[in-house]
Amino acid sequence: MSLSLSADRPTVPGVADDGVWLECIACGDTFAPFEDVRYTCDECDGLLEVRYADLPTFEDFSGRGVWRYADALPLSEGVTTQEGATPLYEVPRLEADVGVETLRIKHEGMNPTGSFKDRGMTVGVAVAQELGVGRLACASTGNTSAALAAYGSRGGMETLVLLPAGKVAAGKVGQAALHDARILEVDGNFDACLDIVRELAERGEAYLLNSLNPFRLEGQKTIGLEILEGFRDDYGAFPDRIVLPVGNAGNTAALYKAFRELVQAGALEEREVPKLTGVQAEGAAPMVEAVENGADEVRRWEEVETRATAIRIGNPVNAPKALPGIRETGGTAIAVSDDEITEAQRDLAAEGVGVEPASAASVAGLRKLRASGIVDDDERVACLTTGHLLKDPDAAAAAGNEPEPVPADTGGVLAHLEGGNTSAQ
Ligand SMILES: *Cc1c(COP(=O)(O)O)cnc(C)c1O
Ligand SMILES: [Zn+2]
Repeated sequence: MSLSLSADRPTVPGVADDGVWLECIACGDTFAPFEDVRYTCDECDGLLEVRYADLPTFEDFSGRGVWRYADALPLSEGVTTQEGATPLYEVPRLEADVGVETLRIKHEGMNPTGSFKDRGMTVGVAVAQELGVGRLACASTGNTSAALAAYGSRGGMETLVLLPAGKVAAGKVGQAALHDARILEVDGNFDACLDIVRELAERGEAYLLNSLNPFRLEGQKTIGLEILEGFRDDYGAFPDRIVLPVGNAGNTAALYKAFRELVQAGALEEREVPKLTGVQAEGAAPMVEAVENGADEVRRWEEVETRATAIRIGNPVNAPKALPGIRETGGTAIAVSDDEITEAQRDLAAEGVGVEPASAASVAGLRKLRASGIVDDDERVACLTTGHLLKDPDAAAAAGNEPEPVPADTGGVLAHLEGGNTSAQ
């Protein structure tokens, strides 16, 4: 495993103060973090990563939520609505049915705006304030816009969101609207929205808070840290595998970075790093294609379609960070059909865990990998569910029981119940 990070503090202005800098993952060039706005490398346009002179161990963490992990973050406090500290649910029936030793569901839908995007925004919006920028912006399949609108408002900043027209679940648009974002509905898919917002950002029109922004991914590292601490506390051991839905592959990259930093700090053995296992929808699976072909680069899919709108993405921007994460941890990637996703959404709901379609992809993928023997029956597994059921009420209604019309009197209701009129699946 090549889990090493360069820990030499570079001599760039601004770094000496707090031991935080930005480093290009392609050419290694370094930059001061809070002097100028930049999203990619000045030299080669490669992706940037936040680096630290001092990396924390588990003993350095205290408190609750994302800011428990402040020593692993670029700032000591953020714009917060108490994000993180999400539940790690037991799902005994599903665990037995899938056939693994341990299955826990890390339900990120339990964050303040109902998705893990809050973890990135509490850090990203604080960095935006540190940089002194005016307007915030993102392209979004929905949840990023909801989180940006909420955290931008809390931070007293103006927000602009670009959404693919007609392809964003109702709950998410409602959130962005009420949290006071300007919503631009683009006649194109998510990837087209991101192309446009990147250009707006390059022209200085807005500060970009998509997962291309390296600071956002720092906040999302805390998902991995919470999962490790949760398993350690409950089982005295870390999980063997983490299965997660993949869109832009920001979480895959963020979790990999969290684990590399713990290894670097001596807090985690290399052999203890969980296998990162990505799941995409069949109609939007460029990462799976790259993993299956052993490719170093991901081919952009121009046409993408899936019921799991949150992962309806054909050009995963974090692929250069995430592909090594899947490979170096011994993980894999798999595609699942929309029907498999809906079935997994029902399986989770039957355990009382309500998730949106994209989230259920993790469980659908695990089931498939277990059935094919790629996942062993003695594994301890965490599945990440990324967003709440209420985000996409239309998908929930379509996947669940039909309401049954009854008369407005008890006799009529009893007659209906006795009539054996069951609801349609
Ligand atoms: C954003 C999002 C994803 C995709 O996450 P990436 O980090 O971009 O791979 C998956 N599920 C939901 C619900 C999301 O909102
Ligand atoms: Zn570079």
